[in-house]
Amino acid sequence: MSIRENLLRIKADLGENVSLVAVSKYHSKEEIMQAYQAGQRIFGESKIQAMTEKYTHLPKDIQWHMIGHTQTNKVKYMAPYVSLIHSVDSLKLLSEINWQAQKNNRIIDFLFQIRIAQEQTKFGLSENELFSIVSSTDFQQMQHIRLRGIMGMGTNTDNQAQIKQEFLYAKSIFDMIKNNLHTNCNIDILSMGMSGDYQIAIACGSTMVRIGSAVFDKN
Ligand SMILES: *Cc1c(COP(=O)(O)O)cnc(C)c1O
Repeated sequence: MSIRENLLRIKADLGENVSLVAVSKYHSKEEIMQAYQAGQRIFGESKIQAMTEKYTHLPKDIQWHMIGHTQTNKVKYMAPYVSLIHSVDSLKLLSEINWQAQKNNRIIDFLFQIRIAQEQTKFGLSENELFSIVSSTDFQQMQHIRLRGIMGMGTNTDNQAQIKQEFLYAKSIFDMIKNNLHTNCNIDILSMGMSGDYQIAIACGSTMVRIGSAVFDKN
């Protein structure tokens, strides 16, 4: 199947209310252009330098999403153009994003990455860490960032019941912040679901899926 056919099939699964981030981290500018020509406009990358290189050479109506772990000292390279950062996992990182956004005279949208998987993963906030950040005055005073929701990654397992439980947990945190937070926020994005588990994620309330191999693999 071509990239175009893959996109058509996935889009049919997603329906109207779920947006698709095509994860292009392992793929060339030529492959991204094939997806672009099939109508795809949102692409996700996991490394700031690679994303910036692609941004420089590809059409300017592409929306670039940072989905990987972000180092504070590299935020400045994406601050002028990044459309959504999915992977914010500390107040320190968020203050740097706020500062770089201010320098670029813009507001940067972001998601908090929440640790929902039972497997040991290095990145992501616990529910308590999330609530302690959003209730801090530091957070409430940041004027150049806007919280749009949360991102979670399910455990890499065949156990569908476990994945479902993790996604429902993410949905419950999403609903809680949506109903309770108002400063710096416009909460409408629940980013969860990848090639292997996006159907489960959508059934659990995902509004944005991040799909790499199912878009770009041609077999
Ligand atoms: C690589 C990656 C994806 C896409 O994974 P696939 O299994 O190729 O769909 C989604 N989210 C994050 C955070 C990733 O790093």
